[in-house]
Amino acid sequence: MRYAIFSDVHSNLEALRAVIEALKAESPDRYLCIGDIVGYAANPRECIEEVKAVASLSVAGNHDWATIDLTSAENFNPAARQAISWTRRYLDADNRQFLESLQLIYKNDDLTLVHGTLDNPQDFNYMLDEYNAARTFNLLETGICFIGHTHIPAVFMKDKSGEISYSEDAVININENNSYIINVGSVGQPRDGNPDACFCIYDSGLKSVNIKRIKYDFQSARNKIIEAGLPKYLGDRLLAGR
Ligand code: ZN
Repeated sequence: MRYAIFSDVHSNLEALRAVIEALKAESPDRYLCIGDIVGYAANPRECIEEVKAVASLSVAGNHDWATIDLTSAENFNPAARQAISWTRRYLDADNRQFLESLQLIYKNDDLTLVHGTLDNPQDFNYMLDEYNAARTFNLLETGICFIGHTHIPAVFMKDKSGEISYSEDAVININENNSYIINVGSVGQPRDGNPDACFCIYDSGLKSVNIKRIKYDFQSARNKIIEAGLPKYLGDRLLAGR
């Protein structure tokens, strides 16, 4: 099975469309989304529609949940909080119902998906180091787990001896003796210094994961954010990938 996996679209329609277009060339069998479809940019409704049309499944992110009051936006920074209130006004009942339908964890024979961490997924903690990774590895029932949330593509690998290592490799050959947590980065608001939209292809037959980047029209996405009355900072950061 060839999976197209992406996360953290954050209402950035320009980035999402570029990713979907790039993914078509990869002829995936299934599209999976790891949450945070909305929040930050100016096209929440359109992004929900696009994700619904293409992805067979999405799990919930903290911004998805905050928009429909399933989690509090209290700990969000002011710009993020402002974007959540803006997004709430913009969504229709169908959009809200879709966000309500998202589960926190998805698992099949090939993979597990969760937005933040497998331990207390409803708290949306960040997978920042080997310590957080160990807690997710302890709960992981498949060889590979895909995550998002930090907006920084990354790979944690646990070998047979239990040792956990970190890398930022974009091409990963899966060794069945090891377990993996792979952060697929962000479609709509990359934060690793590279403004290009990020996504991932996982081929469970070939045992390979490829993290890919695609250029998109971030200038238009930025301008729409500003025209919508959202914080200018949310537009400007797209240009820097920060
Ligand atoms: Zn996010």
